[in-house]
Amino acid sequence: MFLSLPDVFMLYVFVKIVFLLFSCNFKPQLQTLGNMWSNFHTHGNYCDGKSEMSRYVEIARALKMKALGFSSHAPLPFPCAWCMKEENLSRYLDEITALQESNPNLEIYKGLEIDFVPGLSSPTQYNSVLDYTIGSIHFVDSFPDGRYWEIDGRHSLFLEGLQSIFAGDVRAAITRYYQLTREMITTACPTIVGHLDKIKIQNIDNKLFSEQDSWYQDEVIKTIDTIAKTQAIIEVNTRGIYQKKSTTPYPSPWILKIIKEKNIPITLNSDAHHQDDLTNQFPEMAQLIAEIGFNSITILNGGKWKPFTINTHGITY
Ligand SMILES: [Zn+2]
Ligand SMILES: [Zn+2]
Repeated sequence: MFLSLPDVFMLYVFVKIVFLLFSCNFKPQLQTLGNMWSNFHTHGNYCDGKSEMSRYVEIARALKMKALGFSSHAPLPFPCAWCMKEENLSRYLDEITALQESNPNLEIYKGLEIDFVPGLSSPTQYNSVLDYTIGSIHFVDSFPDGRYWEIDGRHSLFLEGLQSIFAGDVRAAITRYYQLTREMITTACPTIVGHLDKIKIQNIDNKLFSEQDSWYQDEVIKTIDTIAKTQAIIEVNTRGIYQKKSTTPYPSPWILKIIKEKNIPITLNSDAHHQDDLTNQFPEMAQLIAEIGFNSITILNGGKWKPFTINTHGITY
């Protein structure tokens, strides 16, 4: 059978359309599907996250992720705009259980990001209902009027607390932040230490201090030494980078070098508040931690924390 010239042309157009469809729609997806990541720091809409937890699961499944952990901001016993309400906690846990049951091929875990506020909030207080905890310092002491000082919120609020609580003494305020981190580790150790040096986002253009200052490095090293005596995992958190609040992850690369020297396990998290940020900056960060000397990250697998080899394409096993 011979094809006429118009038939050949039509066949060419058909083949071209099919090729374009595949190259436009499927190629980028196939590239993404080659990556296998995990993320244990995600905020759904039970706190200040913008996406329903089911949307995170959809993306995690599309990315063929190895594990996904939810870590809404735990309730606090004082006004907190970004925290979960106490009365929603059991619904939050039930919704994760339902997602686990309907997605047997994805490891989904129950967590919370819990503040350490002495006498008021402790990372261990919900241990009985969770698979893991992230312990974070978002508040350092309180204003004379009783408001808790949020250290990673608006810069103007940071400066207000710095003046009002610490008489403008940056070193005293930052030292207190790391002291509180150490107190959390020794009295209510979480599974994961959240964004270890997040307070640095207030140090715009290094105008408050230098991370090279010996007093600052001493505080960080003391904190790392405290963590090294425990089982805690330190997260490498990419949120500051994609939010453009920091050019480096939490914690900074020089701190990660010390963490590597002390053989403390790390995990890679994006602190996602939207489903699209589930693996934001992960290949870049995998590259950075490889350059520092890490060849694995520690993740929950089958209910246990285990090291897995990582490269810029994700976790291998
Ligand atoms: Zn946080
Ligand atoms: Zn968070």
